[in-house]
Parts: sequence; structure tokens; C-alpha cells
Amino acid sequence: MFVRNLLQAGDHVTIVPTGVRISLQYSENGLLEKVYQGYADNQILHQELLTPLLQNNSVPRKISITKGTSFVYGCLYTDKIYPTEGRLDKEVEYNYLTEYLKDPSKFVFYAGHIQSYAVGINLPMAVHRWLAAAGFNVLPGYVVPPSITEGTFSNMLNLDTFPFNYPRIQSYIKYRVGKYEFVSTKVKQIVVKKIKKYTSYEGFIMADIYSHDLGVLNSSYTDIVKYNIHPGSILLVNEENSIIDCYNPDKLKNKVQPAKINCDYCGKVIIVPSKGKVCCADSHCSSVILPHVEHMLNTLSAEMISRDEFMDYAKEVNHIVALPDILDLDKYKDKKFTVEISKLLYAVVPVTIIPNINVWDYFCSSCNNSVDSVKYYIQNPDKIMDDLNIDFNHFRRLHHWLQDPQNVNDVIGMIEHENIEVVASGKKFEGAPIFRGKSIYITGTFAHGNLEDIKSILSSYSAEVYDKFNTAVDCVIIGDLHERTSGRDVNKAKQMQIPIFEEKDFFAKYDIDNDLRKNVV
Ligand SMILES: [Zn+2]
Repeated sequence: MFVRNLLQAGDHVTIVPTGVRISLQYSENGLLEKVYQGYADNQILHQELLTPLLQNNSVPRKISITKGTSFVYGCLYTDKIYPTEGRLDKEVEYNYLTEYLKDPSKFVFYAGHIQSYAVGINLPMAVHRWLAAAGFNVLPGYVVPPSITEGTFSNMLNLDTFPFNYPRIQSYIKYRVGKYEFVSTKVKQIVVKKIKKYTSYEGFIMADIYSHDLGVLNSSYTDIVKYNIHPGSILLVNEENSIIDCYNPDKLKNKVQPAKINCDYCGKVIIVPSKGKVCCADSHCSSVILPHVEHMLNTLSAEMISRDEFMDYAKEVNHIVALPDILDLDKYKDKKFTVEISKLLYAVVPVTIIPNINVWDYFCSSCNNSVDSVKYYIQNPDKIMDDLNIDFNHFRRLHHWLQDPQNVNDVIGMIEHENIEVVASGKKFEGAPIFRGKSIYITGTFAHGNLEDIKSILSSYSAEVYDKFNTAVDCVIIGDLHERTSGRDVNKAKQMQIPIFEEKDFFAKYDIDNDLRKNVV
């Protein structure tokens, strides 16, 4: 938070803790004559500070440099923390100033820099040496090492030798190639008024942290536990609005935000991690599943479900949602979805597992586009790697995902759902598109192969092929083996005067065997 953009290797930084930044003006005779709040261009004369500073022996009355005005920059420091809201170098600093004037004995002055019109003391080491020799307490300074990171920087300042409270730092005095600069950390302090826990659309458990005057801070619930935040806590927040520290006054000292919470939806126990985001551990919980449900409906070109509708439904089923049951909701129960098997898999398996429908195309073509074969490998994921053409990383994630029996049930349940019509995606060969725009219903057991084979053969002529009857089909083909034929559907077709063919007649009429011989090895 401080390091990026502010510091680079080789810089020397003097750390200015939270408190009141003070500039002391020494006269040509070396006597302390004026006191300002703030540094350099932003300093404001506060002569009322002169007496308490001298009375508490915080600063030398006289320095050895004469023949020109000198300024010593430093900070009045106390380890007390007051519930003030605002920037550490603005509102919080003004409050420290008020507190100092009430009771100067709580504060100690530390010096960090000297600028003199009489002598040039420029190198940071020389500055620090001079300040110590003149009788000042000196602010700690560090040389920034190569490859500095936030972590190494904070480790450096968390050492016992660092006398202040990290990261309660309001600014730095930075020296770079002979020049010095005062740099604000822009850290602000807020006092927590209340905390509202909620679950985001994606299922992350979040907290709205209300301050008294500085609005609402939106944060992961992880921070609430990590920093042990309660109403009344005093937070430090960086420029990016991330919490970097929390101070709890005495009355909150014994309070603990438990790392074990319950999911507001399914009630399961959630262990809040030490960093990152947190969500319900059950991947089927309604709190986390909505984006996935939307992806599924979108892929099936189905009407979207609103969050409220979904949550009402989830409440009914006690918040563990089986995907196929969504299609039984009133708004979908009379709808039919015609979908290729690879697209259905893309709809049902989260994109975090298999990101791209092309992977499913490979998977399905390796299964000869046979639905039975797809079902077999979904139920026997150990066999996928040996038998099928699938990238190892995809396989690893899919294999892991299929270890959860509910996931297997979701996939199989969707394939077998009565509202889903799985159509063959593959063609047996590139035939003339003589059945383009025609739909064919097939029933029974065929001499030319299983239903998937027949689908792919007929699809080769651009037919749409169904193994579930619907009244819009253009014709019906009955398998030659006369087993498992749906008499009810055949009768229905007869009543509706839909042409009905026997397998051998149909294949002969269109010379399909000849095409098969020519095209299929
Ligand atoms: Zn849950």
C-alpha cells in the first residue's frame, strides 16, 4: 500500500508516525523562536506550542547552528488512539493537536529532518547524526533494499526496534539522490458504527462497514474475522479503501469475531480463511449457484430466472439445489429444449471446470456422439483419460468435479430430463442435404446400429432426428428388429397421418446403405 509508487530501492525513508507534524524554527542565534504545525509549504504558525514543548524538555532550546535560520521537522507522538474519523495527516492530526494542548505530557517529540540556511546537511545519515547530537529524539530511518515488497517492508517495520505502531504511519520523509520530499500515506481512520453481513450475487460473504461520517466501506467478511472488527473498532484504511489495521478500545478487548460462521442460506458451517474471499463450502448451496444456473439457462436459450424467484425456489428445497429440478419449475415445466449433447454438457458443467464448448465437442466426438457413452464416462471418470481424447488439465478438473456424486447426478439428470431432447451433434458422413428442414422421429431397435448411430446417419443428410415423439415431426422410422418400439407414439403418428417407414424401406428408398459403404470405413 505504501511501497508501490512511493518508494524504490536505494531511497532513504524516515517514518513519520501518527501524531502532530511540527516544524521548529531556530533563529540566526540558534534559539528556538517559532513553532509551526505541518512541514515546509504547508506549515501553520502555532506559537502556543512553544511553551509546552520547552517546558516538557521535548526539544532543545538552542542549537549549535548560527548565522542563518534553521528548521527542524519532526512529530509529536503518542501511542494513544482516539476515535477520530478522517485522514491521519488531516482530521486525526488536528485532534492530536487538541489533545496535546490539553496534556502535553502524553506526547514525545521526535525529529526527522533539518534544513538550514547556514550549513548544508543533506545526506540522511548526516541529518540523523546531527539531530541526535543536538539532543533530539530521532525518527527511525531505513534504506529501501532492492526488490522491496509490501511484505518485506512491513516485516522491516514490525521489528522490535521500530518504536511506533505499524501501519499507523501518516507520512514519510523520503530522500532520493540528494533531494528530500514529504510524502503522505493518505491513510485514513474510521470508527465502525455497525457491520452488515450479506451474501453477494456470486455467493461471496461480504460486509458493509458503516462509519459515522465517512460512508460505507465494502469489504470481504474475511477482513471482519482477520482484523476482529466490531462496532466501536477503529480502522485504518488505505487509499484503495482496503483495511490495513484495526484497533479495539478496551471495552472490545475481549470480544472475538469467530472464524466459524454459518451459511445464511443452507446453515452449513463455514470456516473463514485468513485471507481472500469466503463463500459457502457446499458448491450446491443456493448462495453460490445462481451464476451457474444463469449460465445453464442461457446456454439452453431458456428464459432467465430472477434472483428473487430463484431464492424463493431454493428456500422451498432447503437451499441445496439440484440443477435438473430447475426445469420442473412452473416457468419451464412445459418447455422442451432441443440441444446437442456437447452443448448440454457445456450448460451443466461449470465453465470454471471446462471453460470452452470445443472441449466438449472433442469429448463427445471421442464418444462417437453416443449419449450412452457420454453417460458412461460421466459415471466412470477414472476411465476418461485412458479412453478419450481430452486435455490433461481439463481432465484433472473434470475428474475432481465428478468425485462429487451430486455433480454426476446433475449431469445424468439433465441428459435424462423429459424436457431435454438430446440431438446428435455429429454426422456419420457429409451427405447431400436431402432432409434439410425435415424432422424425423425414430423408435425401436435398429439393424443399422443404436439410436445414436441412426441419428448420426440421418443427420448426415441434414435431418433433425428425435428419439422422443413430438407432433411436429415429418415422418417416423421404426427399427427393423421390432423391439422397444413405442406403439403409443406410432399410433399417435398414424392418427395424425404422419408418414411411417420401416427401417429397411427407408434405407432402400434413399439408397443409404450405398452411401454408408462409400463413406464409412
Ligand atoms: Zn450454504
